[in-house]
Amino acid sequence: MKRYDDIVVGSGISGLTMALILGMNGRKVLLLEKNPFIGGSISRFYKNGIPFDTGFHFTGGLQKGGILYDILTVLEVRDLIRPIFLSQDRANCFFIESEGRQYEVPYGIDNIKNKFKEYFPEETSAIDRYFGMVQKVCDDTPSMNLRTIFSEHILADEDFITLEEVLNKLTQNHALKALLSALAMCYGVKPEEISFANHSRMCLELYHSVARIENGGSALVQAFKKKFKDHDIEIRCSTHITEFADINNKKVGSFILNTGEEVSGDNCVFTIHPREILKILPREYISRAFIDRISDFESSVGFFSVFTVLDSDHEEPDFESSILSIFPHCDVNRLLDPAYKGAPALVLIKSVEHVRDKTYKTIDAFEISFPEHVKEWEVSKTGERPRAYQEYKKGRVDDIMGRIIKVYPQYKDKLQVVDSASVLTFRDYLNSPDGSAYGIKQKMNQINLIGKLPLRNLYAAGQSSLLPGIIGAMMSSFIVGRTILDENKYREFIFRNLST
Ligand SMILES: Cc1cc2nc3c(=O)[nH]c(=O)nc-3n(C[C@H](O)[C@H](O)[C@H](O)COP(=O)(O)OP(=O)(O)OC[C@H]3O[C@@H](n4cnc5c(N)ncnc54)[C@H](O)[C@@H]3O)c2cc1C
Repeated sequence: MKRYDDIVVGSGISGLTMALILGMNGRKVLLLEKNPFIGGSISRFYKNGIPFDTGFHFTGGLQKGGILYDILTVLEVRDLIRPIFLSQDRANCFFIESEGRQYEVPYGIDNIKNKFKEYFPEETSAIDRYFGMVQKVCDDTPSMNLRTIFSEHILADEDFITLEEVLNKLTQNHALKALLSALAMCYGVKPEEISFANHSRMCLELYHSVARIENGGSALVQAFKKKFKDHDIEIRCSTHITEFADINNKKVGSFILNTGEEVSGDNCVFTIHPREILKILPREYISRAFIDRISDFESSVGFFSVFTVLDSDHEEPDFESSILSIFPHCDVNRLLDPAYKGAPALVLIKSVEHVRDKTYKTIDAFEISFPEHVKEWEVSKTGERPRAYQEYKKGRVDDIMGRIIKVYPQYKDKLQVVDSASVLTFRDYLNSPDGSAYGIKQKMNQINLIGKLPLRNLYAAGQSSLLPGIIGAMMSSFIVGRTILDENKYREFIFRNLST
């Protein structure tokens, strides 16, 4: 039987981070991935030789001293990653159709405050108070900083009040409230359900800066793969655990793989959806309360996506990476409600991709969607879905293309649809239970699944554990890494690498 110190399940950004933290600390690691390739949501796919991103388009935290900058430094991969910062003046644009108005949101907190005060001169004190509160929550959150992540997770008062309650106290201006909650698109939870604290933790780094990465998630995957070679980290694709064996004193001794092989490991960290973890855990070792807790987790939103490319002869010298979010109206709660029947919120991401000697200008469109939209085909599989599903997809693609041309009329007859994906596509591609974009919904007063599981040497990390997005997913692995490694060794690892 092959023996490892640690087994990591799932090779999305959480699993890659977990494996590298453990490997860099001298441990023999086995990384298991159900798909035939690694990367999970951050992996890119190619159609007609053009690269498209599945689930990683932009991030905050890449500016010097930002969280992601520090994480990549500690993992010794920062030199392999080249950020493309979006235009500072209009990193994010929001078009609120009911207001007939586009709002350009720069980055840098002072810049955003000044811009918002231009848009809403009556609301200057609400704007100052909002950004002051966001900053304070993040300053008081140990898990927002690698230097303090080893302090216990301390909840703030703002963990017990919703974003909506805070905004209602600050202002009655609907457009301002919509803009202050608009980054809900990056975590997929209604303002009336998320705590103000978690909203703040998700947003702060995106207020400081917004960047894409050259070669998208592939750059991250390649950087991790390169680093793995310096350590004792073995990757096995198309492989998953089917059974636990040799359980003594609530400790799993060995793991049976779908290949029939049995391997042993001191610890096993699951970086997959909590409901997928629940499927694997042996029922005789888990309580009804534990099962109920996991079963009660709801899903974040998902997206219907359309991937397009501009004709190569289309001349547009100032085409650059940018994000435009289109909100039909200001009611963000309704936009994030599965029962909502109106026009969905839509995010358009422009990108310039260089592949060898060719340059492609792409626009990816992400329209909010839910498993309820595709319920009638939920038992079908990719490649085998019925005609009615194809018609649903075609209808949605046509609608989205119409909406794109409405905001970018210059692209009429110049934009080719290369591919499209429903939440079922995401579900099957990412081996998730429902195709939600961000794992479980981060609802206020919910206790997420992070760290030790009911069997002593099993752990949970991943986007559903702490916060979604690549930063939240990676931070969850640092928190679990700290538990598995000797505390002093962990501190030394962080500070040695951060000081270089
Ligand atoms: C459409 C979309 C757009 C997004 N845009 C952004 C963005 O711009 N910026 C951002 O920061 N975040 C974005 N996100 C969110 C971000 O992609 C995720 O929060 C993050 O990548 C999740 O990483 P993870 O490792 O926790 O999970 P995943 O990436 O889902 O990885 C889990 C891996 O585990 C594997 N797996 C599942 N079950 C098993 C099993 N039993 N055994 C072995 N392997 C298994 C899966 O195949 C998968 O590879 C987006 C997500 C989506 C869907």
